[in-house]
Amino acid sequence: MFDYQAPENLLQDKKILVTGAGDGIGRVAALTFAKYGATVILLGRTVSKLEGVYDEIEAKGYPKPAIIPLNLEGAAEKDYDDVAVSIENEFGKLDGILHNAALLGSLTTLEQYEVPVWNQLLQVNVTAPFMMTRTLIPLLRLSDDASIIFTSSSVGRKGRAFWGAYAVSKFANEGLMQVLADELDDEQHNVRVNSINPGATRTNMRASAYPAENPSHNPTPKEIMPVYLYLMGEASRGITGKAFDAQTK
Ligand code: NDP
Repeated sequence: MFDYQAPENLLQDKKILVTGAGDGIGRVAALTFAKYGATVILLGRTVSKLEGVYDEIEAKGYPKPAIIPLNLEGAAEKDYDDVAVSIENEFGKLDGILHNAALLGSLTTLEQYEVPVWNQLLQVNVTAPFMMTRTLIPLLRLSDDASIIFTSSSVGRKGRAFWGAYAVSKFANEGLMQVLADELDDEQHNVRVNSINPGATRTNMRASAYPAENPSHNPTPKEIMPVYLYLMGEASRGITGKAFDAQTK
């Protein structure tokens, strides 16, 4: 596992947006950021799940979170503008984005890949983080230490048969990360951009991709959190444009 021990107050006073915060890795990342002092903005498409995470955070006495319901599949420019306006009105700035929401799509050859599934997947996994980021850059600029994390995969670093649009979308996330990191590496130098490959992690997505696998052989989302905390907190200040693995030995 990536080796990092976060201090208790690592994310105190930070405002961090997590997409796909209702389930899996996003849910645990939101709870973890809140535990370390952040005010988390929970974005996702299933409100009941977001409310569950909200209640857990409140029950633990962490900073009061916010919920933004948004289905990234149908979201238009106006919806992203509304996200920016509500974050600006409530918090005045933004210190971090974890682009975590994603679809798996079909596991089949490119020859057999259905075009509507391809389009849906690229919309959620690639166009959504692009649109979200471009709209929120002005609010990240207002932070003195902001971090954007894109979520990759091992098939986003080396292509593999049958991983289709999902693999291509993860390559695109690495591309978004590299281009943005280069663009934001300017005199102001306050926004860093990196990617994380979580590695095999015990979630619904992993179970859909590998139905025959024993889930207990994979780490839980909680176990892979050190790299997420490292990249959100000030220990990674000045580090940008890099691809990280949550499960490095
Ligand atoms: P899950 O399927 O468990 O969770 C994905 C989350 O994304 C859910 O909260 C889901 O919402 C949300 N989401 C999906 N589509 C949309 C949409 N259209 N609009 C808004 N939210 C949406 O996946 P994981 O937690 O496993 O994956 C998290 C990230 O990690 C993904 O980017 C994935 O590609 C990546 N990853 C995961 C690995 C693993 O082994 N688990 C390995 C490598 C990468 P809802 O709950 O409503 O469905």
